[in-house]
This record gives sequence, structure tokens and C-alpha cells, in this order.
Amino acid sequence: MRNKKTMLLSSILVLCLSACSSIAHLRINEQSVHHEFGESIHEKEYEDAYVINLIYPKTNIQPLDEKLQGLIHHYKTIFIEQYTPSPQKERSELNIDYQSYVKDDRYISIKLDIFMNAAQQSEVIETLLYDQKSESMIAYEDLFDEDATAFISQIIQEKLKEQYPDECNTKAFALYSAPAAHNFAKFVMRKNAVVFYFDAGTLFDHSAYVEIDYEVLKDYLDMEKEEISVFVPYQDVLNEPIKQIDKDKPMVALTFDDGPTLKYTSAILDCLKENQASATFFVLGSRADDFPQLLQRMILEGNEIGNHTFSHKQLTTLSKENIEEEISATQESIHNVTNRYPDIIRPPYGSKNDTVMQCAQGKKVVTWTVDSEDWRSRNTQTIVNKVLNEVSDGDIILMHDLYPTTAEAAIILIPKLQEMGFQLVTISELYEYGKNDAGKIM
Ligand code: ZN
Repeated sequence: MRNKKTMLLSSILVLCLSACSSIAHLRINEQSVHHEFGESIHEKEYEDAYVINLIYPKTNIQPLDEKLQGLIHHYKTIFIEQYTPSPQKERSELNIDYQSYVKDDRYISIKLDIFMNAAQQSEVIETLLYDQKSESMIAYEDLFDEDATAFISQIIQEKLKEQYPDECNTKAFALYSAPAAHNFAKFVMRKNAVVFYFDAGTLFDHSAYVEIDYEVLKDYLDMEKEEISVFVPYQDVLNEPIKQIDKDKPMVALTFDDGPTLKYTSAILDCLKENQASATFFVLGSRADDFPQLLQRMILEGNEIGNHTFSHKQLTTLSKENIEEEISATQESIHNVTNRYPDIIRPPYGSKNDTVMQCAQGKKVVTWTVDSEDWRSRNTQTIVNKVLNEVSDGDIILMHDLYPTTAEAAIILIPKLQEMGFQLVTISELYEYGKNDAGKIM
């Protein structure tokens, strides 16, 4: 079962590598997002003074999950200690995202990208490597001896001198690339290569990574060859259902942010289809690559896909260039799997300013008029009640397809809202029928 999944994901990987190379500088050090192992867990806290957005894997491998929990707890504690509530400043932010890689039947790697904007802004990487054969966590020293380390140091220095010719004549560079195991402790094992990571403030003032093929390391590392799967293009998304919308009758737009997720988005899509209803999914670019079939299904079944940025950072804290990258990378991710570019953007946390509006470049920036607060209550009946108490014609309802309780609430709300006389339409349909004239759309 896992092999099959690995094959599928690695074919997506091939797509990502070719499609996302133009945004290589967006992520700390990756060309695209890989979730080859584990189920994504989302945690968010949204307070006046700070936002926390965590995505990390649950692997069901006890030592690995314990390590992950330990790291998450560690960074949350640091963040809570450091952030200072100040009405003048932007909200402090902790954002953790991850990559997971399956090398083969044996090695699983996880990389956490920790972005913190509290007392100061920082980006840190953590990596974990698990050996399924010995059923234990392993470290650099378990794989590479002194000779290997000398060789790795030499290759890393060569590659970095090529890539950053003006930045390698420093003491820091010599120190942090010297042949010492602790310099190379942060690494993952991908299908064909080991990737070593260097945090900002070590080799350079920015982060860096070096990829070394197993082929190059073959004298030092005994790795059997792996098959590389070939990307098979997904079918074009061409046919959408024809809808009958009565412009004189009430309508509302259900919106689901931060997904897709396999279980909950699928359940919501099933219910929408069964009731011939539509919704809008504001997906993360980083997740679009994970679930091409779900995105295609959304479109095929008459739903709309919106851009919710690539990595769910608070855009108002980013430079114009980074905002543009967050948006355009997501446009490309969605286009790659659906053949179309979204017309609408929802900035994470609804945070926007003039720069964000400029960067939207003609795409509509959409927030919401009814907040289900599903992430806060995580209670099906509370979510249902909040929406039913507040809903009226022209509303845009905010939910997140991340939680079982949200999926359950959606399954109750979809037929219920229709029963109450509301047509369930997409955001663009809501605009098309002029419902925004009521001043409801912020
Ligand atoms: Zn969001």
C-alpha cells in the first residue's frame, strides 16, 4: 500500500520539480513541497497579539512522532516566551511547515521549516531521520564515517563556491563547512540524493542547501538503486456541470480554507455533489501538489478554487517581492493540476494592506462575512449554530476543511441551508449575480 502511494507521490514530485523551479527562492531551501509520508496535522491559534500556524506530520511511528511533538513543543514555548503584545506592531507569528521523504523501504526523513516573527524574525530547519529496519532514529554519524565526512565536506565546499562565489571567503564558511559531523547534522534522504541544510547565520547570512546524489557517494554509502517513476499527465479538466442559478433567490457562498485534506475535503465534496451545491476552496499552493485529484474533482463538480497563498504566512509582514511569490507560486501550483488560474485570493488570516492589494494584480481579494470559528470550537453543533444564526442573503461563510468537526458541520449545513431557501454558489457566482452590492463582501 505504501509503495503504491510512494509511486504516486514521486510522480507528482517529478511534476513539481519541473513546474516549480521558478519559485526556488520562495521556500527556505526547497523547489517544491513533498509530503511523501505521514498524515498532515494542522494546528492554528489566532489571537489579537499573535498567530500560530503549524503543519506537521503524524507518522504513527512512535519514536518519530515523539521527536516531532518534542520539537513542536520546543518552538511553541520559545515563541510564547518571546512574543510581545503591541498594538502598534504586526501580530507576532509562528509558522511551522514540513517536508517528508521516503527514500525506500528503509529510510524516512522529515524536515521542519520553522519561521518565527516574534522578538525578531528567524527561520530555522530541523531534520529527523528514521530507519525502519533497525526501528530507530538515526543521526549523521550512523551513516557516515570520517572518510565520508571529509569527502562530503569537500563536495559541499565546491558546490557552494560555485553557487555563491562571492560569499565563501569567510571564517564562518570555513568553520561551518569543515569536515566535522556536527556541521552536516541537518539532512534528509530523498529518492536519489542526500540533501544537507545550513541555517541562516552559519555558512552565510542566508540559509543554503546542497544536494549530493547517492551515485557520487557510492564509495561511502551502500545504497541500492531505486526505480524512478515517470510522470503521467492527469486528464484535462474540461467539463463543468451546467448550473441553474436564480438571481432573484437568496444565495450564499460556503468557503473552505487551508486544504485540501484527503479525508475532510473528500467528505465535503461528496456532500456538495449529492446536493448539487457548490462551494469555494481556498487552497494552499503547498498542498495543491499533494492532491491533484481533489483539485480536479473540485472543478469538475462545479466548485471554485481560490488562492490562499503558498505557505500561509501573514502577507502584511512580508516584502512585496515575497507576497508576489506567495501568490504566483500558488497560481502556478493550481494551474499545473487544473489547467486554470484562480481569479480570487484570500490572504491568510484575512490580513491585507495596500501592498497586498497591489500584488493581487486584478484578482479579487476576498475575505468573509460570517466566521464559523470552526478552528476555535472544533464542535460540530457549535459550528452549525453559529452559521445558522448569522447567515443571510449574499454571505460568504468561512470554514476550514482541516477538521472532522468542520466536515460534519458542512454535511449538516449544506442541505439545511438549501432547505432554508439559500442557493449554494461559488464566490465568483456570488459576484456575478451582484450580491456584493449589498456591501456584504469585505
Ligand atoms: Zn487560512
